[in-house]
Amino acid sequence: MKILLATKNPGKIREMNKLFEDTGIEFVGLDTLKETPEVVEDGKTYHDNAMKKAMTFYHISSIPTLAEDSGLEVDALDGAPGIYSARFAGENATDEENNQKLLSLLKGVPPEKRTARFVSVLCLVIDGKPYFFEGEVKGQILEEPEGESGFGYDPLFVPEGYDMSFAVLGSEVKNKISHRARAIQKLKEFVKESFGK
Ligand code: IMP
Repeated sequence: MKILLATKNPGKIREMNKLFEDTGIEFVGLDTLKETPEVVEDGKTYHDNAMKKAMTFYHISSIPTLAEDSGLEVDALDGAPGIYSARFAGENATDEENNQKLLSLLKGVPPEKRTARFVSVLCLVIDGKPYFFEGEVKGQILEEPEGESGFGYDPLFVPEGYDMSFAVLGSEVKNKISHRARAIQKLKEFVKESFGK
């Protein structure tokens, strides 16, 4: 079975195909569609945004379609930036600008109060019906960025049970314990049960 992954990033498609290689599922990207409208992420929840993206491309492709929405929730900021994580410091903000904004809002907040979590919500639309898979990883926000790998808030986020940021730990650790890895694991179980070889 083919699943359309709502991304144009060939790296993400390769990664998903690797994770699902024993399932008989093949992921294809948005480059296989004739039209790919811009989807405005204006929902109030990760679920709304993931579903909006998945439904939009399901209606164009007519094949099962998967989309993700994710973000960082910081307790001392009442859950911000949350669904606004990508544009925390402004509409076209860079990762570095977002990280700097986060650090300045947390200035003076002691380590034990810098708790946070990453959240990932996947929406798979099959026959017009949405199925959701959630994952989260708890951790703490550093006082300055650390490490080079990954993206987004990775240099500031130390996952629970570790003493280095995701950007230092690298993709091998991250792909096992991240919010996204956990949501994908749930999706994989569902897909295997429903459509397994
Ligand atoms: P979206 O899911 O494309 O709307 O963007 C989510 C935003 O949340 C990203 O642009 C990052 O700022 C942040 N984010 C989500 N997952 C991660 C992660 O694994 N590492 C670092 N930042 C993340």
